[in-house]
Amino acid sequence: MFKEKENPLSYQETYPCPVCRCGDLSNIALMDAFGCDVCRHIFTIHPERQLLKMADREPSITWRWNGQNWKGEHIGNLEISWVYWLAALLLILLPPTLIGLSAFLFPPISGGFSAWFPIFWTVIAFLSHLFLVLWLIAEAYQFPVFLYLRNRWQQLRS
Ligand SMILES: [Zn+2]
Repeated sequence: MFKEKENPLSYQETYPCPVCRCGDLSNIALMDAFGCDVCRHIFTIHPERQLLKMADREPSITWRWNGQNWKGEHIGNLEISWVYWLAALLLILLPPTLIGLSAFLFPPISGGFSAWFPIFWTVIAFLSHLFLVLWLIAEAYQFPVFLYLRNRWQQLRS
């Protein structure tokens, strides 16, 4: 079964929380569930497969216990091919380049608002497409961005 230095998942132990990365997971009394003492999320464990499943999120996220720490189950079986990276890069760079190029080739005649608007629009185009791609990556890897940010925010305030 398990080597001596590894400690398999069990209901008697406490484990670091994979969501907020600062709390401890411990067994909730009289339940087959684990709770984090910081972010208050509820997890279920499957000792026979060494899996931890987030019970209060849909779709749920699963981690595997390797004896020392958690490994995201969803990350291991996802390979993003270079075609997607190229498409993502084009999606980020192409629109602001087109907007910036047109503003450069056909500069606005008068000053004031219309002079800085193309630059402003180029920056907005770049940031919005960058956000779109980052959001897609976070979704693909099922990284709980908002949970993570909210927990970070709560830590900063307390
Ligand atoms: Zn936590």
